[in-house]
Amino acid sequence: MSERFKVAVTDSEYESHEIERRVLSKVDAELEVFQSRTEDEVIKYCSDADGLLNTYVPITRRVIGSLNAKVITRYGIGVDNIDVAAATEKGILVTNVIYDITDVADHTLSLILSLARKIPWIHNTTRRGEWDWRKFQPIARLKGRKVGIIGFGRIGRKVAQRLKGFEVELCAYDPYVSPAIFEEHEVETTELETLVEESDIVTIHVALTDETRHLIGEKELRKMRTDALLINVSRGGIIDEKALHRSLKEGWIGGAGLDVLEEEPLAEGNPLVSLSNVIITPHIAWYSTGSVAEIQEKAAEQVAAVLSGQIPPFLINKEVLDGSK
Ligand code: NAD
Repeated sequence: MSERFKVAVTDSEYESHEIERRVLSKVDAELEVFQSRTEDEVIKYCSDADGLLNTYVPITRRVIGSLNAKVITRYGIGVDNIDVAAATEKGILVTNVIYDITDVADHTLSLILSLARKIPWIHNTTRRGEWDWRKFQPIARLKGRKVGIIGFGRIGRKVAQRLKGFEVELCAYDPYVSPAIFEEHEVETTELETLVEESDIVTIHVALTDETRHLIGEKELRKMRTDALLINVSRGGIIDEKALHRSLKEGWIGGAGLDVLEEEPLAEGNPLVSLSNVIITPHIAWYSTGSVAEIQEKAAEQVAAVLSGQIPPFLINKEVLDGSK
């Protein structure tokens, strides 16, 4: 009798894994759930698994060296915590999960509107019993202001679609997107330098790669308008956080709305927390009750596909199938 497949969750953000168990049972795979926080824990718990479901714990070259898995699936879009090159060399398929990113776009809009309308500060002051709109001056009208989108992929485009209702001017920087796409979405294409110089609001929607790490650093922050707002719901590493802290403290820019940080969870003593012109949310942009179920189902389907000899729909390292391995 053939042995059952073993699938390991390396680290979990979910209360239940019944959805994955249901999907995986169809390919005779059992699921074990771990809460690994280090490379050594992943190696200890997951090296004998046939498939891995992963959220945040880094799947480094050393971890990959210890694995027997055929597939590593990330519960989400970004795979910056997985050494995809090392997995490819070892012939391990890596997939992400493409899900409805409406929630990410909505969260982006929430951060933009909260910052632009100063909602957290107004709310905190008002709940103390102070009823005075004057102390929150100035608030600029959003209509007519320029929003610059860095990374014009799925989320960037959805954000643009939503922003149109606010009658803002839109421009985007993405060297990998064809002019036809910008035209179709009626968004002006621009260079990064111009975007940071001219935008009242800059919102970041690129994946974290070697190329995009610290894409926004001191040079870019110093070029921004002193009242500009910077939004990041992609990955903390896109912004040089030390430079961002200085820029907010010294008034090179007006404020920041951050769903992601260079170090997550929030490190004790992170100086951004104490600044009054910053809103921080705990990497929650992806979340809604609908997205949790969708991500779990689609993640399990990727692993189930590989274990039953099929090509998973969200395969990232297609080279593994090219016969080179
Ligand atoms: P996507 O691949 O559809 O879009 C990313 C875009 O960035 C692409 O169009 C690409 O051409 C562009 N890009 C790549 N390098 C660039 C560069 N150097 N300069 C400018 N543009 C560049 O991905 P997506 O679905 O829109 O997701 C974007 C990122 O958002 C993900 O990689 C993930 O890290 C992050 N994300 C965060 C959350 C959250 O909860 N905070 C949720 C989902 C996704």
